[in-house]
Amino acid sequence: MLKKKLKKYNPKIKEECGVFGISNSEDASTLTALSLHALQHRGQEGCGIVSFDGKKYHLEKKLGLVGDNFNKEEVLKKIPGNYAIGHNRYSTTGDTALRNIQPFFADTHNGGIGISHNGNLTNAITLREKLVKEGAIFHTTSDTETIVQLIAKSKRNTTMDKIIDALFQIQGGYALVMLTQNILIGVRDPYGIRPLVIGKIKNSYVFASETCALDIIGAKYIRDVENGEIVFVENNKLNSIKPFPQKKIRPCVFEYIYFSRPDSILNNKCAYEYRKNFGLELAKEAHVESDLVIPVPDSGVPAAIGYSQYTKKKFELGLIRNHYVGRTFIEPNQKIRGLGVKLKLSANKSSIKNKKIILIDDSLVRGTTCHKIVKMLYDSGAKEVHVRIACPEIKFPDFYGVDTPTKKELLAANQSVSEICKYINAKSLKFLSLDGLYKAMGFKKRNDIYPQLTDHYFTGDYPVKPVDELGDDKITQLSLLSTATNK
Ligand code: AMP
Repeated sequence: MLKKKLKKYNPKIKEECGVFGISNSEDASTLTALSLHALQHRGQEGCGIVSFDGKKYHLEKKLGLVGDNFNKEEVLKKIPGNYAIGHNRYSTTGDTALRNIQPFFADTHNGGIGISHNGNLTNAITLREKLVKEGAIFHTTSDTETIVQLIAKSKRNTTMDKIIDALFQIQGGYALVMLTQNILIGVRDPYGIRPLVIGKIKNSYVFASETCALDIIGAKYIRDVENGEIVFVENNKLNSIKPFPQKKIRPCVFEYIYFSRPDSILNNKCAYEYRKNFGLELAKEAHVESDLVIPVPDSGVPAAIGYSQYTKKKFELGLIRNHYVGRTFIEPNQKIRGLGVKLKLSANKSSIKNKKIILIDDSLVRGTTCHKIVKMLYDSGAKEVHVRIACPEIKFPDFYGVDTPTKKELLAANQSVSEICKYINAKSLKFLSLDGLYKAMGFKKRNDIYPQLTDHYFTGDYPVKPVDELGDDKITQLSLLSTATNK
């Protein structure tokens, strides 16, 4: 039945998002707005803040960017109190609706609860069908509401026990920040697939998707929330519970490759450093005689710097990016997506004319970006364009909250490297090997018994098997089941 339902909907998987929470601060909502601004790259569709003033909760949700919405005194005044949580939502196709913007807020038997969620549940559809059969009414098409319903329905006594009860029922990759009266709660899934860090500013603890959200408000990084850990701040004290059976941590490799901001710290190093190393390893594995190394801006820049430093080939900005084009421009469909590349990038003609070019990007998903750029470079007089991708071939879709499409749309799932090379019209094409990726991160190579990362994109090794199994593409996205309009 699920399969039949899904066929009717647009199979796009998009639930990236940034989350934030702060306790015990007179400037809670202002600091939340600033931190969400630093996390803007994790989602541009909408943003929201829930605050608690000691008596009442306040909620403001907006479509669009943080800087356009939470930039005025009068908006921030509407969300008073010393506790706040916030959320940035990634742009989706066909489901851009205010009702899906987070944080979600609900009144439960034990009082109000606000929740911000980054990630995707792999059993959300199954859970939701069960809850609906039992009489639950859903207001959104987001899997996050399933968590809220499970908490509200739990027969346990305390709010924390209700949360733990709900967490035992959900599966997938998730980082949650919740607010219940004067308790701020952070949760990371049992494998730590999605990130969450703890910081401190004066007497306030903060939880955030990335360290760049701490830097902007001057908060000090304390530590990462561990995999399977619940942290909570009550009476200014940080507490920790680990209710799940212990698992080895497996953070998502795409946070390292693409998703996190380059200045965010992942496992003691900036994402930028890892990306430079991916470029360096790529150069060791796949260099070819050339004149210039050119990045696809901005995603390919660190890898291209690493590549150029290793090969001693000149680094040039052969492509210029228009910074005023929002990502929404390239969202809606494949046709507009193609146009989007031109809106966003143009060739720096004089520096590339008659040159043999190594073109570097962090990843190749559908191949749209590369296809357009290679043509743009040849049209602008490049002699040869050799494409080098600073991660392995993406052959498997993601179910844990990163926007990779279905297997059908993933170029490397359906074509060999030489076929892809032909499709993008490059002189040559090489991807970083899986062992090269691990080496660049400081491991000897990928360990098959205890893979250190969630790397199913390349290996098909899914730490959490999707329960909502729906045929070849195994789409596990609640928004696809919605028949409601987006108003
Ligand atoms: P494509 O054009 O579909 O091959 O996508 C590759 C481009 O999209 C690269 O320039 C990447 O930096 C970027 N990219 C990779 N992963 C994602 C993602 N999850 N969301 C948005 N863009 C991405």
